[in-house]
Amino acid sequence: MALVTLRQVLDEAGKGGYGVGGFNVNNMEQIQAIMEAARATKSPVIIQASRGARKYTNDKFLYHLMLAAEELYPEIPIVLHQDHGNSAETCISAIDLGFTSAMMDGSLLEDGKTPSDFEFNLKVTKEVVDYAHARGASVEGELGCIGGIEDGHGSGQSRLTDPDQAVEFVKRTGVDALAVAIGTSHGAYKFTRKPDEAILAMNLIIEIHKRLPETHLVMHGSSSVPQELQDIINANGGKIKQTWGVPIEEIQLGIKNGVRKINVDTDSRLAVTGAIRKHFAEHPEHFDPREYLGPAREAMQKVMEQRMNDFGQAGHAGDYQPISLSEMVKRYL
Ligand SMILES: [Zn+2]
Repeated sequence: MALVTLRQVLDEAGKGGYGVGGFNVNNMEQIQAIMEAARATKSPVIIQASRGARKYTNDKFLYHLMLAAEELYPEIPIVLHQDHGNSAETCISAIDLGFTSAMMDGSLLEDGKTPSDFEFNLKVTKEVVDYAHARGASVEGELGCIGGIEDGHGSGQSRLTDPDQAVEFVKRTGVDALAVAIGTSHGAYKFTRKPDEAILAMNLIIEIHKRLPETHLVMHGSSSVPQELQDIINANGGKIKQTWGVPIEEIQLGIKNGVRKINVDTDSRLAVTGAIRKHFAEHPEHFDPREYLGPAREAMQKVMEQRMNDFGQAGHAGDYQPISLSEMVKRYL
């Protein structure tokens, strides 16, 4: 199995009526955790790297770790995706490096902080779509502003997606997938209480899906921030303030209404940190990184397997043969 495009994986998810997690990585152990979870649950996977992750790992290390994943897990379709590209240049560099998909987040200016206007977003996203599709790669766009700040990216404010604009945006840019802002935010501190309709606008997903039934929708900031992971961290010296994430049942409602990609990063981070804290609390004499990174990797694998089952991607790894980038180029023409 080769690296595959986001477009193919989401088209298949659309046919099968399931969602696929977009899981962020920064290092080898996280990639291994996702791949082991994919093998255990027979899931296609989307592995994504933010600009911060590319800087932290260095592009070459990241890309070659992904090639190792491809070689070691030949039965798993893998999408390698740029998360929140801040400029056409960032997205183009990802595609040139071998990523099969890029997100152009034109909802913000190139500084990754200042909200942009609609025309700016259209123009920069279309530029990336033209470049990517000519090479067979896929593009995710974003309309509206997702709250919170992650890896220094984000305005800190939330602006819900306008369904009329969504229709125009998809038509004029030709994006393969659209991230919509429905009140979620990046990071661990999403909600100060269990979210209800007043703070999580699932009706907006339903409305946008009605108008754009062929467009794959993407939910960002969709970690569920499980209480038990917060508890493990806090029971072992951590100080995570009480917080609520996006309930699995709300994500599943989204999947019934056109959501095909669900971004999850915080849950992995919490699992890794909890396992390391617990290990150090129980074994203060340990100093071999394998002794605590091993359990951290296992804890992340466990949460990844849960999400793969929750989203419905489990069992679908063997459903299809990869479509090559050159074949994708022809299809876009
Ligand atoms: Zn995001």
